[in-house]
Amino acid sequence: MKIEPGKYLFSKIECRDYDILVPFSCRKTGTCCSVYVPRIPYDDLEVLVKYLGLPADEFIADYQFYYGKKLKGQAVRCPFLDNHNLCRIYHHSLRPWVCYLFPFSYGSEVIKTCPAHVEHHHLLDCLVAGEKECNVYDSSFCPNLDLRPIPEERWLGILKRFQSVPSLPELAVAFVIFNEPELMGELMAMRRSWE
Ligand code: SF4
Ligand code: SF4
Repeated sequence: MKIEPGKYLFSKIECRDYDILVPFSCRKTGTCCSVYVPRIPYDDLEVLVKYLGLPADEFIADYQFYYGKKLKGQAVRCPFLDNHNLCRIYHHSLRPWVCYLFPFSYGSEVIKTCPAHVEHHHLLDCLVAGEKECNVYDSSFCPNLDLRPIPEERWLGILKRFQSVPSLPELAVAFVIFNEPELMGELMAMRRSWE
């Protein structure tokens, strides 16, 4: 299947004869953004402030104040985080890459303050445990390089291992779409026929 680079974060479990893609799904707790201010170039700040309809001078001065504190090693709340702990520029193309890549930017280290990252690593451990030979990669930048489909006879076992870790329903849907797009097509067709 074709997965648009830059749209999702996911790991790839490269087994001997096939690949398993494991998507990452942020729980939107805002924990990471409550203690971090990303570097955003001035020109981008101007665009983002306009996009949000905020008073430019005031917001940019605030941003620079908080960014300065972050450079001094302080844990500072990002000024783009709203009162519901959601990023106000989450869907904007100028949201910094450092934000998009968190927590994968920390390599194989599990970020315990991020429930989605803990869940992701539980899933990886569980899926890897059923494989005799494999390697795990952060695959977000090279998703389409000759991915090998999971053989039909292996799919049910892999799905059962995935389901043994509690996860959000949307993550289970993404897991099926990534690994069994044809099955997902059939499920959607069945659902339409019930409606
Ligand atoms: S820009 Fe958005 S995603 Fe990045 S730290 Fe700020 S609130 Fe979080
Ligand atoms: S700590 Fe993890 S789950 Fe919470 S907002 Fe950050 S990336 Fe998402």
